[in-house]
Amino acid sequence: MSDFWETSVSYLKGVGPARAALLNKELHIFTYADLIHYYPFRHEDRSRIENIAHLKKNWAGDDEMPPVQLKGRLLQGRIVGEGNKQRLVALFTDGSGDMELLWFQGIQWVHKNLKWGETYLIYGKAQLFQERLSMVHPDAEWFDPANPPVLGLQPVYSLTETLKKKFLNTKALSKIQKELLKIAEPHITETLPPYLLEKNHLTSKKEALKHIHLPQSHEMLEQAKRRLKFEELFFIQLQLLKLKQFKKSYHQGYVCKETALVKNFYNHHLPFELTNAQKKVLREVYADMCNGRQMNRLLQGDVGSGKTMVAFVAMLFAVGNGLQACMMAPTEILAEQHFKGLQPYAEKLGITIDLLTGSTKNLARRVMLGRLENGNLKILIGTHALIEEVVQFERLGLCVIDEQHRFGVEQRSKLWKKTADIFPHVLVMTATPIPRTLAMTLYGDLDVSVLDELPAGRKPIRTAHRTESQRLKVYQFIRDEITAGRQAYIVYPLIEESEKLDYKNLMDGAASVKQAFPDLNISVVHGKISAAEKDYEMQRFKRRETEIMVATTVIEVGVDVPNASVMLIENAEKFGLAQLHQLRGRVGRGAEQSYCILMTGLKVSKEGRIRIETMVRTTNGFEIADVDLNLRGPGNLMGKEQSGLMNLLIADLAQDSGLLQLARQYATDIIEKDPNLLLPQHKVLQIQLNHKNKENQWSRIS
Ligand code: ADP
Ligand code: MG
Repeated sequence: MSDFWETSVSYLKGVGPARAALLNKELHIFTYADLIHYYPFRHEDRSRIENIAHLKKNWAGDDEMPPVQLKGRLLQGRIVGEGNKQRLVALFTDGSGDMELLWFQGIQWVHKNLKWGETYLIYGKAQLFQERLSMVHPDAEWFDPANPPVLGLQPVYSLTETLKKKFLNTKALSKIQKELLKIAEPHITETLPPYLLEKNHLTSKKEALKHIHLPQSHEMLEQAKRRLKFEELFFIQLQLLKLKQFKKSYHQGYVCKETALVKNFYNHHLPFELTNAQKKVLREVYADMCNGRQMNRLLQGDVGSGKTMVAFVAMLFAVGNGLQACMMAPTEILAEQHFKGLQPYAEKLGITIDLLTGSTKNLARRVMLGRLENGNLKILIGTHALIEEVVQFERLGLCVIDEQHRFGVEQRSKLWKKTADIFPHVLVMTATPIPRTLAMTLYGDLDVSVLDELPAGRKPIRTAHRTESQRLKVYQFIRDEITAGRQAYIVYPLIEESEKLDYKNLMDGAASVKQAFPDLNISVVHGKISAAEKDYEMQRFKRRETEIMVATTVIEVGVDVPNASVMLIENAEKFGLAQLHQLRGRVGRGAEQSYCILMTGLKVSKEGRIRIETMVRTTNGFEIADVDLNLRGPGNLMGKEQSGLMNLLIADLAQDSGLLQLARQYATDIIEKDPNLLLPQHKVLQIQLNHKNKENQWSRIS
């Protein structure tokens, strides 16, 4: 970057110190570089001029009209009405007909400053009411015959109210950008290697910057956008891959090889045939654990895809190689479930296994920690308790982290520090369907495996939307299922702001469930009871001593009771998509047909309706995640710490997944062929990366 780009915007023609201060404060624009990278978020098509008669004739009916541009004379406006009903009304005529223009805000200023009687270009959404055409708050620009406005695509910048009040509106900013472009051209250097531009038909940086701010045609604008989006995504991928490369070259890993233990398990104790997806993922895990570098792998698997078994086999692989392994779950219930599920296999194989949670008694804990440190204990399952400092292993070779979304990146790195010399291999498992595009960006520093197949014989869960008036039928349905030997979950939402209300909600719900099923055994589990009580109820339900489990979302993640075949979700509109999907995943785990019933009131918000419809339409976690991404935007989907990464200037992860994949592919190829970017054609990349490394702290995400 040359000094030119470091110049303060105050030196630019039309800016000056006062406006510069505003730009600094409101938009964090300090330098020419900041300014030119402040892209418009959309463009308005002002290339055509409509006429009023034509507009009226072609009015399609009652739906909204797209914005139009008109050219005509502005006749004297007058202020009418009193108090907050006051408005400015003016007649506008273009020769073909006339219409009314209306202002409700800033009336005095508009009244004083418009040149009444002169020709104007106006732009806005017109409305038709009783044969009269009108437009509220039109964007009006004086048509100066000596210097007529250029018709075409107009950029629209995102601005604050303060800026607009000080007349730094989108037009003013556009003018400033124009001034900058006039002097900036010779200083714009290409940031991508020419072969990349050519292969992907990308326009040059110079053209792109020009046409994003001053597009000459739709086509050029599209090209500019595509180029700038690609560049943005490409450099993010390049940075992430460099980070991954750095970690790998830096961290040596335990070298494992084939073991008799895994073979023995496969041949004699595996309770079912592994799915092809499970086999594929295990091959990827083995390869990672054998190559001498520390494994950092994310395993994405939809609910019920059998991640636990993959984790167990990977742990056996480590143990067979003389190492220890641990598995961390986000809740005690889950940790216990894993432990109880895996213990029988471990015992048959003669492998020591234990469970460590917050409720492990002191004495037992001390003994356990001793056995861990001297290496007698091979597999440890647990909760957060595992990351405490006192937990030390003799030779920790593999860490599995289940349901990763509940753990921060920081906790992940704490686990790494459990052995002095070599970092353990890390397998992070998540059932939160993260859209592939997002996973690629967020976990670009991890290798990603996907379990995209459910075990054979599973019937897709049938999902239905029901309202209050159908409650009796729903209850009868549940009764029929229970009579046929199944069990059911009934779940109430948890609204964080008001724990009291939740509790009341749940308790009222539980009471009415008890009333409806007086002859059945019912478990009630919620956030207010102790972990021990919770576990007790969960175990009762698992042993089929109770037929119905009434709960808040504590059962959301991971709980496995294959005999349960109905999931009734109350106030389903209050749940997010990811949560609904998780909850539904609690059924459909056995061979029986399972059902999910989404109960709502009659009135559901538009977004709520989309969520419900999506759930009814599909059981595919990735499809659901994509809808979720579109509804909520990437920032909200991930935790706060990661959303900073999502401050993209121009690309949109929800919409540009194709480009992202392309960018990812090129970045991967380049790093593979030229890891240190030493080839002459990659010098530009190195320069750009150095520059980017200076401006953001990527260390935060590692
Ligand atoms: P999740 O991926 O949601 O954590 P689990 O590991 O809890 O899923 O597995 C869900 C259920 O499927 C469990 O009851 C498990 O025993 C069973 N399961 C796992 N793999 C297979 C397989 N290959 N064939 C049949 N059942 C399997
Ligand atoms: Mg699980």
